[in-house]
Amino acid sequence: MTEPRLRIAVQKSGRLAERSLELITGAGLRAIRGANELLYRIENHPIDLLRVRDDDIPTFVDDNVAELGIVGYNVLKEHFPDKDLEEIIVMRLGFGKCTLKLAVPIGFDYQGPQSVAGKRIATSYPNILKAWLSDNGITADIVEMRGGVEVAPRMHIADAICDLVSTGTTLEVNNLKPVELVLKSEAVLIKAPHAPQPDLAHIYDMVVRRFDGVTKSTGAKYVMMNAPRDHLDEIINLIPGSGSPTIMNLVDPSMVAIHAVCDESVFWETLDRLKAAGASAILVLPIEKMMP
Ligand code: ATP
Ligand code: MG
Repeated sequence: MTEPRLRIAVQKSGRLAERSLELITGAGLRAIRGANELLYRIENHPIDLLRVRDDDIPTFVDDNVAELGIVGYNVLKEHFPDKDLEEIIVMRLGFGKCTLKLAVPIGFDYQGPQSVAGKRIATSYPNILKAWLSDNGITADIVEMRGGVEVAPRMHIADAICDLVSTGTTLEVNNLKPVELVLKSEAVLIKAPHAPQPDLAHIYDMVVRRFDGVTKSTGAKYVMMNAPRDHLDEIINLIPGSGSPTIMNLVDPSMVAIHAVCDESVFWETLDRLKAAGASAILVLPIEKMMP
C-alpha cells in the first residue's frame, strides 16, 4: 500500500505562485517536480503540491481533494459569498496584499455609492460586488468580465469598474480613479472541511505550525538595548509590536538590558525615539526562524 500524502493546493503560475513556494520552502519543505507540471512532490515529507489555477483552489479544498490550499481572500470570498470564511481560513499569510476597488472615469462626478445606482459596473467579482451594492442599498447592472476590466469604460461596455488594485498604476493609465474600497485582500491558508486522515495528522499540524512560524517571523526583528531603569516603561512602550520583553540586570544598578522580539518593522524614527528616551547600545537583528 502506498503511503498517504498530504496535499496542498497552490497557484501554478501568477501573482501568488512564487510567494507560496517561498512559504513552503521557508517551512523546510523541499519541492521537486513530480510526474507532471501539475504535481510537485515534497521530497523530505509525505506531501504533494497540487499546482492549479487559483480559481480552482477553493473548490479543490472544499471537496477534500487537497487538505490545505493557499489562495487570495478575494477569490475565496467570491467563491463562497455566503459561507463563514473564518471556519475555512487557518491563517492569513501576509503576502499578495491588494484591494478590490470601485473606480470611475476621471471626469465622473462621484458623490458616493448613489452615484453608481442604475449604472453598469464591470467586474470579475460579481458576488462581492453584489454584496457591496446591497450593503449600500443600491442596485446596478453587473457586467461580468474574465479580465481586462479596466478597459470596459473606454469601450462603453460599462460606466464604472470594480477591480483589484495594488499600486493604482493600471487605473491611472486607463483614466480611472478609485472611489470606494470594496474589499481588502491577502493570501490565506485554507483547510478542507474534513479533518486529515489520522496518518497525516502530525504532518498537517507540522505544516500549519511551520507556516505560522514563517509568517510571523517575516519582517520580525530581535531588538536589544540598554536602558536607564527609571525610563523602562517609557522605553518598552516605544518598542513596536513587542509582547513581553526580557529585562536583565546590568553591573550598573541604574541600568538594565532589554531584549525583545518585534513583530513589526523597526524604523529609524523608532530608534531615534528610543535613543532620546535614554536607550543606548541599540541592536536590531533579523530573525531567521521563529516558533511562536
Ligand atoms: P490564475 O491563472 O491562477 O487563474 P489569475 O490571473 O486569476 O491566475 P493573478 O493575477 O495571478 O490571478 O492573481 C492572483 C491573486 O494575487 C489575486 O487573486 C489576488 O489575490 C492577488 N493579487 C495581489 N496583487 C494583485 C494585483 N495588483 N492585481 C491582481 N491580483 C493581485
Ligand atoms: Mg484566476
